[in-house]
Amino acid sequence: MSATLSRRARLAVALLAMTVVPMAEAAPQSPAPATIAPDSPLLHIDPAEVACGRPAIALMDATRTTTGWDHRKFPAFKVVGNTYSVGISAVTAYLIRTSDGLILIDTTFDETAPWVAESIEKLGFKLDDIKIILGSHAHLDHQGGSAWMKTRVPGAKLMIMEGDAETVEKGAPGVAGIGRGMPPVKVDQVLRDGDKVTLGDVTVLVWKTAGHTPGASSFEWKTTENGETYDVLLMGSQQAAEKLVPEGYPGIVKDQIEGWEKLLSLKPDVWFGGHPWQHNNVDKYEAMLAEPGSNPFIDPKGYRCLVAARAFDFVEELKKQEAAAAKGGK
Ligand SMILES: [Zn+2]
Repeated sequence: MSATLSRRARLAVALLAMTVVPMAEAAPQSPAPATIAPDSPLLHIDPAEVACGRPAIALMDATRTTTGWDHRKFPAFKVVGNTYSVGISAVTAYLIRTSDGLILIDTTFDETAPWVAESIEKLGFKLDDIKIILGSHAHLDHQGGSAWMKTRVPGAKLMIMEGDAETVEKGAPGVAGIGRGMPPVKVDQVLRDGDKVTLGDVTVLVWKTAGHTPGASSFEWKTTENGETYDVLLMGSQQAAEKLVPEGYPGIVKDQIEGWEKLLSLKPDVWFGGHPWQHNNVDKYEAMLAEPGSNPFIDPKGYRCLVAARAFDFVEELKKQEAAAAKGGK
């Protein structure tokens, strides 16, 4: 856990993590955690990329503490081509325009889902055109608003990764200072790693990048603007410092290893996190406004650097937790 996290933020993260604990409790004795294979790309990360990701991580940690869990509106805007930002100050949500309707990624909190709807309408779209809602993971700040959104747009199909679908269907209680809870909502389609979700002229690739929750996902799609094609990625929540030893849930170490390996293998041009501070959203947005025609969100190098550094930190964190457990066991 980052030392820059405030006590309140640490408590909040711990409480959020608790929403997936029942699965771990219900499970029998878990097998020994996975280990990183010697030929894993996680053990061969370019130190230069780790170094270039350091300032981004420092900025990310600093912004996280200032933005925190504030429930504030953020302007809706077109990021690139078919991709629009419709999230709030603390949590992202994205809209993809296709030739056959809209795909919405995440709905933010129960209490802020109406703001997401307002943003979509401000951009000139109709809520009824949302055909698919993709959920990045089953926490109340990303999926709390899906029940509300489904009552507004009953025709939209909610899709979420196996491992998290049941949590969304069960719902979760509120957490003081964060959000009022995740009302239960029916999942229309359970996603699996490698699935392709197609609507009209857009296909979204579904990647399981679990470890923050058992079904945390990333979504990747393409868009074209001014004759250029871009690869766009919503990088699902992935933390370097989850509870790994002992495992926060059975299989978390394997999930984290595979999740970081996947993220290292992707090469997006435009990329977002589940929280605006994870991709320096405010600075990029303001730079975009300040210089019309520029697009700081097109940032392939920024992704490589940040993911290299965060994946490197995951490996270090795993080693640290293993060493601490070994020491404690003596
Ligand atoms: Zn989360």
